[in-house]
Amino acid sequence: MGELLGLTVAQAAAKIAAGDVSAAEYFGAWQGAAAGDELNAYLWSVENAGDYEVKDGPLGGIPVAVKDIFCTEGTPTTAGSRIIEGYRPPYTATAVRRLDAAGARVLGKTNMDEFAMGSSNENSAYGPVLNPWDRGRVPGGSSGGSAAAVAGGLAPCAIGTDTGGSIRQPASLCGIVGLKPTYGAISRYGMIAFASSLDQCGPLTRDVTDAALLLAAMQGRDPCDSTSVGIEGGIAAPSREDLKGLRFGVPSELARDTFDAGVRAVFEATLARIEELGGEIAEVALPSAEHGISAYYVIAPAEASSNLARYDGVRYGMRSGGDGDLLEMYETTRAEGFGTEVKRRIMLGTYALSSGYYEAYYGQAQKVRTRIAEDFKAAFAEVDFVVTPTSPTVAFGLGEKTADPLSMYLNDFFTVPMSLAGIPAISIPAGLAEPEGGGRRLPVGFQIAAPAFAEQKLLEASYALERAIGFDARPEGVDG
Ligand code: GLN
Repeated sequence: MGELLGLTVAQAAAKIAAGDVSAAEYFGAWQGAAAGDELNAYLWSVENAGDYEVKDGPLGGIPVAVKDIFCTEGTPTTAGSRIIEGYRPPYTATAVRRLDAAGARVLGKTNMDEFAMGSSNENSAYGPVLNPWDRGRVPGGSSGGSAAAVAGGLAPCAIGTDTGGSIRQPASLCGIVGLKPTYGAISRYGMIAFASSLDQCGPLTRDVTDAALLLAAMQGRDPCDSTSVGIEGGIAAPSREDLKGLRFGVPSELARDTFDAGVRAVFEATLARIEELGGEIAEVALPSAEHGISAYYVIAPAEASSNLARYDGVRYGMRSGGDGDLLEMYETTRAEGFGTEVKRRIMLGTYALSSGYYEAYYGQAQKVRTRIAEDFKAAFAEVDFVVTPTSPTVAFGLGEKTADPLSMYLNDFFTVPMSLAGIPAISIPAGLAEPEGGGRRLPVGFQIAAPAFAEQKLLEASYALERAIGFDARPEGVDG
C-alpha cells in the first residue's frame, strides 16, 4: 500500500495504463488514506469506490482532491461557508469535467477559507486545516485543504483556485508544487466566484511533471466562460535539464530584509542553483509591485461584494429569520451565514464602489493594476522569468495572525502582483528553514513567474530546477 501511495501521478498513471496496478486497488488505497484524514483537509470524500470503471486517458485511474469551491453535481459544495451549507450543485465545473474526461476521478472535496478569502484556512466555517509538517501551524490558504491533502499523503494530487496567491502560498507552506496559470487558461465555469477578474484554477501536486499533466487536462477554451481561451498548442510533459540561455529577473525593489532570514537563505541558494544550471540572474525593476497589496485589497473585495450579493437566503443554501419580512430575512441570513472576514470584505468592497468614492478607490486601484502589468511587460522584455520567494515566512502558528488582518494580508505580498497582471506563476519547494523564533524546519517555496501563456516554458524551467534542487523531505509519517 505504502508503495502505491508513494508514486507520483505520472508514475501511477503509467503503471495503471500498463496493467501493473489495478485502478480499483489504487483508488481504494487513496480512499483509505483520505478516510484517515486527521488534518481536517477534507469536507467530504467518496465513500464507495466499488463501482469505479477506469476511463482511458492520461489520468486514467487517478484520484483528485478538489477544493470545495468547484461545483460537483449532486455532492455537497460549501465554498467553506455556512451560507450555502447543504447546496448540491446541479452541474459540475468545467475544470473537474475535463479531469474526468482525462480519466481522473474526484476523491473528495477539500476544506478552504470561506469563499477563498484568507491565507491560513482559519476562515473556514468548518474549522482550520492543520499543516502536516507541524499540526500546530497553518497550511496556508485559501486552498489549504488541497495543499495539506497532497503534502499529508491524503491525495496524490489536488486542484485549487488562486485569486491572489491561494494556490502558490499553501503549496509553499506545505512543501509541494502549486501552479497558477494565466488568467483564461482554464475555464472558471462552475467555480464559485470570489473576484472574477482574478480567479483562476490550477493544480497542487508533488512535482512539476504532475502539475503539467493536470494543467494539460484542464486547460482549454470553454463556451461557458467567455474569458477562457486555453493555451495554444496545449501542454506537454516537461523534459528540460538545464537553464542555459535563460534569464531570471530578481525585482530590485525586493528588499531582502523584508522576509525571514531562513526564507532568504533558501532563496539565495536557489539563485545559485539557477546559475549552476547555466541560467543567468539579473535585476529587474517592478516599481509598482509594492502597491499590489493595496490595489488587490480594493479590487478583490469590490468584486466579491458584487459576487456575494446573490447569497440572500432565497435561492441557495441556508435561510434564517424574517417572519415574512423579506428584508429582515436577507439581513438575518447574511448576518448568520457569513463569517467575519467575508463580512469585512463585503463592507470594504461596497464602500470602495459607493458613489463618490468609486474613482478614489476602485478607479485608482485599477490604474495601479495596469501599472503593475506594464512593469511585468517591461521586465519580460529583458528576462524570461521573474523570481521571488513565494511567501515571506514559513508556515506560521494557528491563531498567530487572526487578530491582525493586515499582517495576514501581507502574506500575499509576493503573489498578488502576478494575479493582478494575469500572468502564470508557480511555487516549487526549494528547501527547509527554521521559523523565526525557532522550531522544526519547514518548507520554503520559490516562485517563478512568466509572461502570459508561457506555461510550457515555465514548466520546463521549473522541471530543470526541481531536479537540481532534489527536494525530497516529507512530513513525518508520510510515505514516498
Ligand atoms: N489571501 C488572499 C485573500 O485573502 C488571496 C486569496 C486567494 O487567492 N483566493 O484574498
